[in-house]
Amino acid sequence: MAAPTATTGHAPGPEPPATPLALHGQSVEGVDRCVHCGLCLAYCPTFSLLGTEMDSPRGRIFLIKSLAEGRIALSDSTVEHLDLCLGCRACETVCPSGVPYGELIEAARAEIERQRPGGLLRRLFRWLNFGLLLPHPRMLALAAGGLRFYQSSGLRRLARASGLLRLLPAPLPAWEPLLPDLPAARDRAPLPALTPPRGARRARVGLLTGCIQRVAFGPQNRATARVLAMNGAEVVAPRAQACCGALHAHGGEHALALDLARRVVEVFEAADVEHVIVNVSGCGAHMKSYGTLLAGDPAWRERARRFAARVRDVSEFLAMEPLRGPLRPVKRTVTYHDPCHVVHGQKIRKEPRALLAQVPGLAVVDLPESDWCCGSAGTYNLVQPEMARRLQERKVAHIRKTGAEAVVTANPGCIIQIAQGLRAAGSPIEVLHIVELLDQAYGGEGA
Ligand code: SF4
Ligand code: SF4
Repeated sequence: MAAPTATTGHAPGPEPPATPLALHGQSVEGVDRCVHCGLCLAYCPTFSLLGTEMDSPRGRIFLIKSLAEGRIALSDSTVEHLDLCLGCRACETVCPSGVPYGELIEAARAEIERQRPGGLLRRLFRWLNFGLLLPHPRMLALAAGGLRFYQSSGLRRLARASGLLRLLPAPLPAWEPLLPDLPAARDRAPLPALTPPRGARRARVGLLTGCIQRVAFGPQNRATARVLAMNGAEVVAPRAQACCGALHAHGGEHALALDLARRVVEVFEAADVEHVIVNVSGCGAHMKSYGTLLAGDPAWRERARRFAARVRDVSEFLAMEPLRGPLRPVKRTVTYHDPCHVVHGQKIRKEPRALLAQVPGLAVVDLPESDWCCGSAGTYNLVQPEMARRLQERKVAHIRKTGAEAVVTANPGCIIQIAQGLRAAGSPIEVLHIVELLDQAYGGEGA
């Protein structure tokens, strides 16, 4: 029996249940797994560049824990240290305690947005992107048409040569060179709803065609469908699909991220596919986490978990069996850059290399620091241009030393960032998505 207390004379009641540590309704209980060993520090790109504890994973975990416990307020310097994080998750790969760092930083970003939504212009800009363009393919297609006109009509050349761009409010002039060159309308058109398999059918798969991916990297989506079909996949590309919500989750738009996740689950359930194939690293890693994202919603928890178990990065799916032939020789020397959300977010390291090793004539040389972030990191190169530039230069220097004619990777964001860095350095090295290289080996569009 419990002893009476000195002050009341009554026996104390049962301890109230501890309130779970959370930020903006998202659990950050994982902070307690950190044992402060510091093993992650040497693998963190921002710690490597800045050398400050609060710009390391351990320092940021300390900040997130202190925020969740209400021991510190969201000061300017706390926001800065958290904003400087790339979200690359290299720290997760090496952490012996299994700290789920990706979940922690997403929760912290949602809390930052809640407490600091910013001025009218910032809120309008975010609504335009997160609320209007990304979730609505038709709006995004309209915007892409306008951008393509700007790029291909000579307007861009004029704006750059005349100095007109400099009159735009900051940071727009710095962002303009980072815009990808959009393909012609034919390549921005939706993929066929069904691409039949070549030869014996291996599986019926759904293909995430993405939001920005669909308008900016249509040729890669078409190459993905062709390579999958050459390997026996019946490829379904549902017209009703929209954005997967990865950029929303990484950017602190938690409620929109949940809505978009439910929509994606619904669309691919209706498509009745065995796997959902993704060729964008951030989207794949995010969709594999839908079970955790929707764990608090009893109506969707189980559906989200089942869906997430079916998601496969395109390299992961293709490497499950030897590539089907015939493959033509591709006589080139290439090197491979690991996108963060493939290698750290999805722990896929061997598979792309195993696929490249099967292409006849292809020489693959090692890239030092191949799994270090190139500075793209979602929208990081837009909001932290100086840090992104330093990481880009480091990546480009390593690539040039390999002597490769092309660098192969598996994520459009990395392709834009690395290609821009190589161009700025005057290098002719080409940057390719792995499906484009495999598509070449299969003879491409004309096969
Ligand atoms: S490696 Fe893991 S446990 Fe060690 S300091 Fe880093 S996050 Fe904490
Ligand atoms: S996600 Fe990347 S940048 Fe952020 S703390 Fe981890 S290793 Fe460092």
